[in-house]
Amino acid sequence: MTDSWDRVDTYIGEKLIGDDAILAAALAHNSENGLPPIDVSAAQGKMLYLLAQMAGARRILEIGTLGGYSTIWLARALPDDGALVTLEVDPKHARVAQANLDRTGLSDRAEIRVGPAMDSLAAMTDVAPFDMVFIDADKQRNVDYVAEAIRLGRSGTTIIVDNVVREGGVLDPASNDPGIVGARALFDFLQSDPRIDATALQTVGAKGWDGFVLARVA
Ligand code: SAM
Repeated sequence: MTDSWDRVDTYIGEKLIGDDAILAAALAHNSENGLPPIDVSAAQGKMLYLLAQMAGARRILEIGTLGGYSTIWLARALPDDGALVTLEVDPKHARVAQANLDRTGLSDRAEIRVGPAMDSLAAMTDVAPFDMVFIDADKQRNVDYVAEAIRLGRSGTTIIVDNVVREGGVLDPASNDPGIVGARALFDFLQSDPRIDATALQTVGAKGWDGFVLARVA
């Protein structure tokens, strides 16, 4: 089945995305520097880009940069005077991402802040309120990140959280896997917090079986 998922992702890429030298160079640079291939897929990256455009986002927050692949998709959706802040704890990842961003010509509107995301969020006095927040970092902190996204957002802010299905692991209340524990805690939070309205979509494809939470601040 996973072979079919891969082939359909390739088909979607050929039909709707096409070759993209800058994104290909970013992935190659990530690989040369030993970064794990855990970026979003091309189809998912374009989904983020389109959602940001549909939301008319002028200020975007990303939590979890890696080599900046999703950052590039999101930054491309911004108007010329837009701003994106992306948070990354690993200085090496941030260096690789900066080099990738420098090749896009979008460095003027995309800033990488290095350090634990919760520290960067606590110190965030500029740029907010954000119109869109993409959360894709250490999954056990998903609830904290969504709470911060609400604090730094406004009514109508779009919040997207990646990797919330974990090959169905989200169904397992006995799991000790931090990613699964974090995903389940996130669903509990979203179920009970009146400040936010959410759904989740399962995804299959080049990145396996997983899913996104899509939420709107009330
Ligand atoms: N969004 C990226 C993309 O699609 O191209 C992928 C991000 S990767 C799944 C997760 C990233 O979050 C890693 O680079 C990791 O170092 C970073 N990270 C993990 N814990 C973090 C923390 N506490 N604060 C900031 N970044 C963190």
